[in-house]
Amino acid sequence: MNRQDLYDVLIIGGGVSGTALLYQLAAFTDLKRIALLEKYATVAAVNSNGRNNSQTLHCGDIETNYTLEKAQQVQRTAAMLVNYTAPLAARDQIMFKHQKMVIGVGEQECAALKERFKLFSPHFPAMQWLDEAAIQKLEPNVMKGRQEAVNAIAIVGEYTTVNFAALSESFVEQARAQKDSEVDICLSTTVSQIEKQGELFQVKTNRGDYRARFVVVCAGGHSLLFAHRMGYGHYYSCLPMAGSFYYAPKCLNGKVYTVQNDKLPFAAIHGDPDILAPGKTRFGPTALVAPMLERYNIKTLPEFFQVLRLDHKVLQAFWNLLRVPDIRNYIFRNILFEVPGIRRRLFLKDARKVIPSLQLADLQFAKGIGGVRPVMIDKRKGELHLGEAKIDSGEGIVFNMTPSPGATSCLGNAEKDLHIISDYLGCRIDKEGFYERLNNA
Ligand SMILES: Cc1cc2nc3c(=O)[nH]c(=O)nc-3n(C[C@H](O)[C@H](O)[C@H](O)COP(=O)(O)OP(=O)(O)OC[C@H]3O[C@@H](n4cnc5c(N)ncnc54)[C@H](O)[C@@H]3O)c2cc1C
Repeated sequence: MNRQDLYDVLIIGGGVSGTALLYQLAAFTDLKRIALLEKYATVAAVNSNGRNNSQTLHCGDIETNYTLEKAQQVQRTAAMLVNYTAPLAARDQIMFKHQKMVIGVGEQECAALKERFKLFSPHFPAMQWLDEAAIQKLEPNVMKGRQEAVNAIAIVGEYTTVNFAALSESFVEQARAQKDSEVDICLSTTVSQIEKQGELFQVKTNRGDYRARFVVVCAGGHSLLFAHRMGYGHYYSCLPMAGSFYYAPKCLNGKVYTVQNDKLPFAAIHGDPDILAPGKTRFGPTALVAPMLERYNIKTLPEFFQVLRLDHKVLQAFWNLLRVPDIRNYIFRNILFEVPGIRRRLFLKDARKVIPSLQLADLQFAKGIGGVRPVMIDKRKGELHLGEAKIDSGEGIVFNMTPSPGATSCLGNAEKDLHIISDYLGCRIDKEGFYERLNNA
């Protein structure tokens, strides 16, 4: 390949976001040349790797931190993934139908969950209401030894779990199978600089330079780093929230979520079957503020300080967080969850909300497992921007930052980029084909 060749679109980052966009561009536009640049030797090596996230297809039904509006947004993007995998021979290696539920524990949570069921169930027809006897049938260990009142909302028989790495690989495979466009996958290719020269972008890598008419950066927290270096998105700073997990011998039949403390901007821990570790239940994730853009990669520490851009507005946002006692306690508690010697004991207390009879000996810290959610701090508002963030320069380059539920939303996010690219380059989108394949349940 002549690397000086010109691409219509270059995608930087081969996680589930970048590969989803690659697929959509190849399958539904008339663009002829597309390339994906990924610094590791495989796609989905970082947060989209199945070991590093919770493997949950977030549909909005059991995530009590979502408003109805947010829940319906993720319901749509989750359905796009289900539709995408429907005709694939490898579907059973990508998506799984574990039962799932969210439990209310204690009078207050039980009442809140009941209200939620009333509001949400008309929009989520698969929702079931469970009393204690019904929970006992589906998840006996959730009831064993429990003193407090408990109830639940459950979904049975639907897709709930995704191997996002297998999904990313399938996007690449499907993109390559399109006859009308040339798709280059450039692995072990680290981008060091992006520059606009006239109408084109010059992208420098360890394997030579690439040129493109449009660039989309889907590089997690590194997207913001590239944006800042090019003079975009200075109103964002990045707060990387690392998430760790704990393993126990299999004690749940499906996913069990807990009710979110509405003062906390981060999801409460849950218990899940791990599709990559049969026979185990995985608890987590924790939420640790970590000075790194990539988990367990110390080389990304200086890059964190570059995207943090500490100033009085960032300090104000931190202060706004820390002055809420629930958030303050939660942040310090999560720091302790990482301290060997005490972490298991502390985590046990939280995990017992899911399984009251869990014992210390059952829990094992999942070493080397977990990722980083690049949460944006919106300096204009002095608060966290929860969920995915996009910087559209309007000048032929887009930057995507994708904390949870970014993996579930990959096709929805890619769809937004598809339209931005089409408006800028004037390419055609096969809207009917898109609808038929991804939206038509
Ligand atoms: C603990 C945890 C639990 C989560 N659970 C869920 C869940 O259950 N469900 C859900 O929907 N979401 C979940 N998420 C969020 C989800 O994992 C992410 O939103 C998603 O994986 C983001 O995908 P991405 O492609 O944008 O980023 P990534 O998967 O991080 O991919 C970015 C890619 O860019 C590459 N890259 C970076 N810099 C460069 C460079 N200079 N040159 C070339 N390549 C570069 C990286 O190598 C990487 O492959 C979770 C996240 C965490 C951390």
